[in-house]
Formats: sequence, C-alpha cells, structure tokens
Amino acid sequence: MSLTRRTFLAGSAAVGAAVVFPAPAVAARPDTGVAAFAFPLSAVRLLTSPFTANAGRTQSYLQFLDVDRMLHTFRLNVGLGSTATACGGWESPTTELRGHSTGHLLTALAQAYASTGDTAYQTKGNQIVTVLAQCQARASAAGFNTGYLSAFPESFIDRVEQRQSVWAPYYTLHKIMAGLLDMHLLAGSAQALTVLVGMAAWVKFRNDRLTLTQRQNMLDTEFGGMNEVLTNLYQVTGDATHLAAAQQFDHAEVFDPLASNQDALNNYHANTQIPKVLGAIREFHATGTTRYRDIAVNFWDIVTRHHTYAIGGNSNGEYFKAADRIASELSDTTAECCNSYNMLKLTRQLFLTDPSRIEYMDFYERALYNHILASQDPSSAHGFQCYYVPLRAGGIKTYSNDYNSFVCCHGTGMESNTKYGESIYFHDGASTLYVNLFIPSVLTWSARSVTIRQDTSFPEAGSTRLTVTGAGAFSLRIRIPAWAAGTQIRVNGAVFSSPAAGAYATVSRTWVSGDVVDVTLPMALTREATNDNASVQAVKVGPIVLGGLFGTSNLTALPVLDPASLAPTATPLQYTAGGVVLAPFYKVHGQRYSVYWSIGGSTLVAHYPFDGSVADASGNGRTATLVGGAAYVSGRSGQALDLNGSTAYASMPGGLLAGATNFSVALWARIDTVTTWSRLFDLGTGTGAYLFLTPRSSAGTARFAITTAGSGGEQRIDAPAALPAGVWTHVAVTRSGGLGVLYVNGAEVARNAALTATPASTTQNWLGRSQYADPYLDGALDNVRLYHRALSAAEVAGLYTSGT
Ligand SMILES: [Zn+2]
Repeated sequence: MSLTRRTFLAGSAAVGAAVVFPAPAVAARPDTGVAAFAFPLSAVRLLTSPFTANAGRTQSYLQFLDVDRMLHTFRLNVGLGSTATACGGWESPTTELRGHSTGHLLTALAQAYASTGDTAYQTKGNQIVTVLAQCQARASAAGFNTGYLSAFPESFIDRVEQRQSVWAPYYTLHKIMAGLLDMHLLAGSAQALTVLVGMAAWVKFRNDRLTLTQRQNMLDTEFGGMNEVLTNLYQVTGDATHLAAAQQFDHAEVFDPLASNQDALNNYHANTQIPKVLGAIREFHATGTTRYRDIAVNFWDIVTRHHTYAIGGNSNGEYFKAADRIASELSDTTAECCNSYNMLKLTRQLFLTDPSRIEYMDFYERALYNHILASQDPSSAHGFQCYYVPLRAGGIKTYSNDYNSFVCCHGTGMESNTKYGESIYFHDGASTLYVNLFIPSVLTWSARSVTIRQDTSFPEAGSTRLTVTGAGAFSLRIRIPAWAAGTQIRVNGAVFSSPAAGAYATVSRTWVSGDVVDVTLPMALTREATNDNASVQAVKVGPIVLGGLFGTSNLTALPVLDPASLAPTATPLQYTAGGVVLAPFYKVHGQRYSVYWSIGGSTLVAHYPFDGSVADASGNGRTATLVGGAAYVSGRSGQALDLNGSTAYASMPGGLLAGATNFSVALWARIDTVTTWSRLFDLGTGTGAYLFLTPRSSAGTARFAITTAGSGGEQRIDAPAALPAGVWTHVAVTRSGGLGVLYVNGAEVARNAALTATPASTTQNWLGRSQYADPYLDGALDNVRLYHRALSAAEVAGLYTSGT
C-alpha cells in the first residue's frame, strides 16, 4: 500500500449437499470476449482442506468484528454520534486511509454468505449497508456533495485533485464501492446498489469538473480499481455514465507502454498498477475494445515471466524492479500479499477471456498455494494475515491483529479467505465443465441438473477423484498442469487417457449417476532457478514450494543445498537435506525459513552486475553503496559502475571474505587512465590488514597483495605487465590455501604458492578506492563477483569467454 507514492510504511465451511441461493443478481449486460463463465460462489461448497481451515478462521473473525467500531469514523464524518471504540492501525480516526477495511469487510461478508449460506454474514453486511446509506444521505448536511460516502471528509478529494499531499482517497472509496457491489451481487442487497449508484454519480460529478490533464495527473496517486468497479457496475446497470466514469480512470502513463508490450514497470508501485490492469480487462469485457485486452495480457505476461518470485508473488519494498531481477531482490519486504490477491483476480478474468491458455490457471494454482494460503497465521483464531512475505534467507512471517493493524493486506486477506470456491470450476455456457483446481468441493451445476463432487488430499497426494451425481451428456475439461508429467485419467476404473502435461484433457461422455473419474497428478521434486542467477533456486514438489526450516536461526546468506542430499521423510511433501527440514511453504509459520537456496556447490558471496543498480545478484542481499559521484555507464554487458578517478567508489558490506583462506574475486575493468596504486578492489580494516588489486604498482605491473601487518607484511602476486587502458579486461585472483593465482583475460599470468596472511575481518570493502591515500580508479567495473572458494582455471576462463 503506497503512502502517496513517496514512501511506504516500512473452518467451518458448510459441508454436504449444496443449495444454490439466492437467485444471483442478473447482469444487464453480458460480457463480451469471454469463452468461459464462472459459477456463482453459492454453487460451490468446500470440503475439508487447508482452504477450509483458513476460511474458518476468517469466518470467525467476520463474526467477531464489531460493526459499530467499523462504522465509527463514517458516522463521525457526517456528524452522526458514535460511542464505539475507535479502531487502531490504518483505521485510526487520523489515518487518511480510514474506511478501507469496512469496504473489504462488506466483500468478505458477502462472500462468506455466498460460500456457506449462513445468513448471519448477510445480516451483518446489511447492517453496515444501512448505516452507510444513512451516512450518504447526510452528505449535504455535512457539507459534502451529493452521493459522497467516506470515513474522511471530501476535502481529501480536493487535495488529490490539486496534487496536494494525501494518502490514497480513491483507493479507499474503491474498496467501499466494491464491497457495496458484492453485497448486491452476492447477498442480494438492493440498498447496496442504490448507495453505490449514488457514489458513482458523485465520482462522475467530481471528474467531469476536471480537464483530461488534471485527471491524468491525479491518477499518479494510487486509486485502487476504480475503473474496475465502475465497469462492473456498468455491466449491472447498463448505465453508460458508469462506463464513462470508469474510463476516466484509464491511466495513460501505465496503459500506453503496456499496449505496445513494453515493460516499463521498473520503480512503479506494484499494487497501484495491478488493479488498473484488472480494470482494463473488465473494460474489454464491457466494450470489446481489444486494446484493453492487450494491455491486460501483456501486463500479465510481463509480470509473471519477469517480476515474479517462486511463490507467485511480486514486488520488493512494494515496487516492481527491473525485469528479471529476482535473486538480487530478496528482502524482508518482498511479495506484498495484496499483489497476489489482485493478480489472481486478473488471472481469473484472463482465463475467462482465453480458457484454452493453461498458463493462467497454472499460475493461479502457484500463487494460491504458495502465497495466499501461506500468508494466514494458522495459530490465530481470527486468521491474522501477513503484509509482506519475506523471501530473504532467514526471513520470518509476521501478522496483523484484531483491531490495531488493518493494513491493506489484512483487508484483502479477509476477501481471499472467503472465496476459495470461486475458481475451481467454470463452464463454457453449454456442455463443457472446466475443472481447474484440485480442491475438495461439491459443485451444483444447476443448468445441467448434476453435481460434481471432488475428493482429494492434494497437494499431499498427487491425485483427485470426481464423482458425478445426475445424468446427461457433457464434457469435463480437466487442467493437466505443466508440472504433472505422466498423468493418467481413469473412468469408472478403466484407463481413459494419458494426457500431456500443460494442456486441458477432455473427457466427453453420457454420464450416469455414480460415474467416477480418477486423475493421477504425479508430483515430481524439482527446482526453479531465478531469472538472474541460475545457482539461486527454490525447491518444489509439483507446484508446491518448499521452505527450509531454520527455527530461531537468522541467516546472513543463502543456505547451500546439495540437491543430491534431498531425502523424503514419512510426512507428505516434507524432505530433509544436510540436517535441514524442508516443508511446504504454506505450512511454514512461527520460525525463520529460506525459500531460496544456493545450489550446485556455488559459494558465490556477492555479485554486482551494476546494471543500473547496486543490488547483489547472488541472492545474499549484500547490496553495495555508491559514494562520491559513482554512477553507471555502458558496460561489458549491460551497464557498469562508472568511477571518475577523483572521488567516486563503491562500498560493499562489511565482512566480505573475512578470515577466508579460500576465495576468489573476479571482475571486468575498463581503465580510462592507469594510475599507480589505484585500486580495482581493496577489502580490509585500514592500512594494517587488507587485500587489494592494483592495475599498476610502483614496480610498473599489476599486483595482488594481502596482509595482516601493513605494507611491510604484504604477500604479493605480481603480474608481468600493468593492466591496459581503454579496453575491457577480465581480471581474477583465486586463493586456495597457500596458493594464489592471478588471471588476466581468462589466462594465468602469475602465482604465489606461499600465501599465509588472511585478514580476520573486513570493514572497508571498496571498489575503486584504496585503504591508503592512493589515487581513485578512473574507469569502469562490471560484474564484480566474490566467492568463498578458489575458482578453477576453467571457471575463470569461462567467465572471461562469457563476457559477464
Ligand atoms: Zn497490501
């Protein structure tokens, strides 16, 4: 949740025969450009699974929440009395986002009612709607324009329009509007629709007063899915002013590059953008304008392929980073949960648009199990929720609480955990049923007078069983995930097919009551490498990401994993490796963990590609710092660190190579002016203990030196020549015990087999600067790598040949 985009704050689901109720509100306008259709949430009943456990805790929370506390600031905003205790956190009476959670609550109550049939949720939702209607009716008495409804004054809208500082007023109004629409569509509230239509008219009134430029400037402030909810409303009412209001929130700065399939997402607040694109696909469904569809499809492809962690989440510190930066962006603030909530909503709409493209539901499954399911605290009776899911090694999940958090992800968490039945089954409007997810459930397909019961312990077992009750001719289209090689389908015990992975398998038949379809879904143990570092990998079983359990042990670097040591335990989906237990990440709570591992014996300590960033691509999080005017310049590959020869250098974190008797440093250098005693690198504690490499010593040649006793104690490797000026040159020094070897352009140029010195600590670890008052480096450095082992001659030659 962006704070004005300048900064950010650092089961008891009913089981049994499903009853479809109430008659869902009928959309005035059918969606165009769709080839699959959702069932009403009320047509699907969940059977016992991890999802019902999560849903049950959230349901308890929905029952627990005090309506008057959730309406306190709404009442005060229009001069109605309230004696309720004020909420805390992001719902405190002074927080500019106040009111957003009440919108989430409306959606959650509507969904819980539709999912379970328990009218207590409907009643509670109706109570809130009634008070919101009272507050809206007092708008003019409170000095607001007609239709305005919020827990904060309308002056917040003046501020966002006038580009004055304010958090995200339309973001909050979107949550309330979406909640009202859900109360109408899922819980049959006519009053909710009336209030929403009044809000929509107010939105149009506000925006009609602005110029296009003023509106577009305003859209730089996070506004949630205003275009989505207004388009959804248009589909219900058929009122063209609702579509026009939606389109006033089309943000050209974000849509234009996406329409031409450009990835311009770097440094954009992630969860500000996803709802805009969700609005775009709904605008396609409402208008048929293919540009909206292209924006959504391109965005989905870009985000899922180039900005997504193994668990299906995205963003570091809430922001998109440069494409393919994954291992170099592991922190305690990765993978904001709202982002996956919104990505799943987008994915679902794209599935409806192109249901033959199996990547959509493969991704849905990945993010659903590994991010959404994984982000609720199972030890909390009320389903407390993660904000971020840390993906740095040694991270730990932290959670919201009853009344003093109300962060954005707490709100979307209420929603995610009350709609697990929504994407398991779809139909094609005729005689085909999609089976997309392997979640125990019962579908009532009223149009064909059949029920489909799905029994499975997936993902703990790689199989599922579908039982048909009722009769008739129809087809099942079963998702065979890309991970499920070797699938077999049996019908009533007889082998029917062995379908390929990564496609839908069709079973067409005239069904009779009691027919049974068994699907085996072999779940292999695999690893997924990060886009930016092949040796940084996550371990998966089928689609399920495993987390290594580290108890109270914080980690300062990626744990090393020998894949050959992975051994299954008696517990499903649980493995051990090197004394560490790996368990499904969705079950990892209350202790430190690592999702990513250093694989293949790699002992990379840090890797700086300097591609416009000081990020450490090793996955170890050792971000460097630019000092004294250091910048970026075109590099040997991508960009490089640019140093001016007078003030500029880069500082790496302390501790690098401290105490190491086996290590390597490899880098590319393009030296503009070769100055005696300048440094490519110099790691140490000062002039007493260090290890450095200079392009030219006073002896006239390149030199590596290491000492724990000042310059008089230096042990050296002298090259036969100085490093050249003006050309990219690969330089590496390796040390294995007493043997040090210096390489230039992939070939050994000198060695010293009598090294004994090893600095015990390193606190000043610099690129381009000496521990002494020597000249600063004038030139550029690229792909600086440090290892805790000696690279072989072949490995050094490989780095040189690769150009990276
Ligand atoms: Zn959030």
